[in-house]
Amino acid sequence: MRVAIAFGTRPEVIKIAPVYFELRNRRINTLMVATAQHREMMDMMLEVFKIKPDIDMNIMVHNQTLNYVASEVFKKMDKVLKDEKIDVLLVQGDTTTAMASAMAAFHNDIKVGHIEAGLRSKNIRDPFPEEMNRRVIDVFADYAFAPTRKAKDNLEREGVERERIFVTGNTVVDALQMISKKLPEVEKGDYILVTMHRRENIGEKMESVLKALKKFSKESGIKIIFPVHKNPRVREIVFKILGDCKNAKLTDPVNYMEFLKLLKSCRFVVTDSGGVQEEAPSFGKFAVGVRNTTERPELVESGWGVLAGTSTEGVRKALEKALNFSKSGKENPFGDGRASERIVDILVKGKTEEFKG
Ligand code: UDP
Repeated sequence: MRVAIAFGTRPEVIKIAPVYFELRNRRINTLMVATAQHREMMDMMLEVFKIKPDIDMNIMVHNQTLNYVASEVFKKMDKVLKDEKIDVLLVQGDTTTAMASAMAAFHNDIKVGHIEAGLRSKNIRDPFPEEMNRRVIDVFADYAFAPTRKAKDNLEREGVERERIFVTGNTVVDALQMISKKLPEVEKGDYILVTMHRRENIGEKMESVLKALKKFSKESGIKIIFPVHKNPRVREIVFKILGDCKNAKLTDPVNYMEFLKLLKSCRFVVTDSGGVQEEAPSFGKFAVGVRNTTERPELVESGWGVLAGTSTEGVRKALEKALNFSKSGKENPFGDGRASERIVDILVKGKTEEFKG
């Protein structure tokens, strides 16, 4: 069997890395195909995991549009799939890279495995364009690797045949367990770790969240550490609102080790990132989701977080809740660190025991 893995952004690298290592450990011929949709942030993460792409499409250009990315991936992935003998293409999550790569494989009658299938916010435009991407892939993926039972339920409701669905846990938990082993002990810090960059939040929503944070930090004396995404539109807003805030430390994006260290020692997290919400419970941290929809209801249901929305008042209430949170000793609802093992079992043997979550 020959497996190809397509990826192009930071979160994809984190979440496919454990699958790649599992395939390699089982001596399965694996081709790593980078689109480099986000050149710098993807490279940073490849460096952490010491992964070298076999093929690098290097598609990123300044001010790229979604249709530019999709058309480049279609064209270049088509060639890769025609040149290389591939049995299964694995894609992860909800990026344009994942959607266009998966469709290019479908057009070539090559099997597709979708890691992190079945996440649904139920609003096709939020997150944009991710909700559309993930739905499209699940229409035809031969293997829909659902991280949780809720994700499986979503797929079944949409009519995805049971034989295509496998509940595996989320590979992000595998990834952070791999990296955590190398993390030093850290002291407890008195700061909120913030990340915010989603396309649909850019503008007024981001401004009102950051204003609420600034006020809260001033009143409570709790600092803010914020590794700011490379997107220039994000940077402009963040520096405009928090640039003069003495309590806020604004940095460039940090590498995964550094980020997990920050996560390990913070008071709690404020984020619009999917991956960060999934990681926080593993470190016993409460997560405030600053978005209006979520495709990860497990966070709120398990008590590890809250969906604050983006209004100043909603965020203020959520920050107070986070401050009073005491660790409940619950497990991470997103995974148990064995997702990649299950995914490779399914590819090789066609079956595995489910993640119960
Ligand atoms: N992350 C990182 N450095 C940073 C900020 C985030 O390594 O400065 C990691 C974080 O641990 C998480 C992932 O990047 O696993 C999330 O990426 P992003 O928020 O871009 O994507 P999403 O998860 O929302 O798809």
